[in-house]
Amino acid sequence: MNTATSHALFTRALELMPGGVNSPVRAFKSVGGEPFFAKRAEGAYLIDVDGNRYVDYIGSWGPMIAGHAHPKVLEAVERTMRDGLSFGVPNALEVEMAETVRKLVPSMQMMRMVNSGTEATLSAIRLARGATGRSRIVKFEGCYHGHGDSFLVKAGSGALTFGLPNSPGVPKGLADLTLTLPYNDFEAATKLFDEVGGEIAGLIVEPIVGNANCILPREGYLQHLRELCTKHGAILIFDEVMTGFRVALGGAQARYGVTPDLSTFGKIIGGGMPVGAYGGRADLMQQVAPAGPVYQAGTLSGNPVAMAAGLATLELIQAPGFHDRLEAATHVLCDGLEMAAREAGVAVTTTRSCAMFGLYFNNEPVETFAQAVASDSAAFNRFFHAMLRRGVYFAPSAFEAGFLSSAHGETELAHTIAAAREAFREVAAG
Ligand code: PMP
Repeated sequence: MNTATSHALFTRALELMPGGVNSPVRAFKSVGGEPFFAKRAEGAYLIDVDGNRYVDYIGSWGPMIAGHAHPKVLEAVERTMRDGLSFGVPNALEVEMAETVRKLVPSMQMMRMVNSGTEATLSAIRLARGATGRSRIVKFEGCYHGHGDSFLVKAGSGALTFGLPNSPGVPKGLADLTLTLPYNDFEAATKLFDEVGGEIAGLIVEPIVGNANCILPREGYLQHLRELCTKHGAILIFDEVMTGFRVALGGAQARYGVTPDLSTFGKIIGGGMPVGAYGGRADLMQQVAPAGPVYQAGTLSGNPVAMAAGLATLELIQAPGFHDRLEAATHVLCDGLEMAAREAGVAVTTTRSCAMFGLYFNNEPVETFAQAVASDSAAFNRFFHAMLRRGVYFAPSAFEAGFLSSAHGETELAHTIAAAREAFREVAAG
């Protein structure tokens, strides 16, 4: 595989950007080797600057659920941008977006558009604190909610990948206000709320933990969190940046039938453009400026071109049977991967939720963060490179969920499983 052009670009990039990248996990640091540079993307494929093609299971870390460069999304962007890139006054697409989101996720009675998942979560936490007059927040080990100061405490994703769950630069006084819990542990949550429930402004959770690979909630767990928050007057925030519009049209809250007070979105809502959103109960959102005193703003928030890309994507995913087909494809993929691993004598287990999956080098089903981190990441790293050489791109970290899109058809799935058969044999050979 020729990677000369990527290598030359990475050499230049290393002098210009920390680690040569604009977001840490892209650097391949934990899996070893060097990243490839994308030239373009189409459907289920990424094509690099040296002309190599990869079946892509990241989809730009989530947004590309309808496949890369979908003609309908591109057409909406092209049409909208001809009228100007940004206005700084309200535009009709913002209203259309809010109406669409509320139709698909009814708990989003009112909302604000922002420019990233990070902005959405830190705005939601500020609102929880402002609305309750309390300071403490609760998050879960291995959950990642963007790089806001309050969230870089036992964080997942890149922070976990690089062994930096607690970042220097976060004032201790602020970090002390973030309490952490083990995900899927009913009793630990009850105990914490019994002790300090009256001081907790809000609890934020990835309803499915996609930043410690992919951990599904135990039966009744999200309901338990709902009840604790209600009982103690704390705001329940579902961070659906990853799960939103992906695990069901209405997100994890629809899939599990639990209604949060606030939700955060990103990724799919922007269709590949920089978009996030937070929202929920109208009485809470009415406290955001200028309706209320909790401040939050954004020069480019609700950007028309970004709204157009997001709306076109949300239109595509409303096609009848869209998520059912994705779910079926994920089962084919995960069953195939498990079977290929078994044939090679490699211990692998998968988790799945519609268009999202986890692959663990572990011989027991993974339900907790402790089990997730106990998986064999050295084996994962070998598997990652063996797949990459065969033109299949999984996330370059053992702690990231995989994503399918509607462009992943039989051809791509068959290619992936055939590649995995060989890759697992390489892993078994050590
Ligand atoms: N929350 C979750 C659940 C995420 O997965 C991410 C990013 N992967 C974020 C928040 C942060 O979003 P962004 O990278 O757009 O700031």
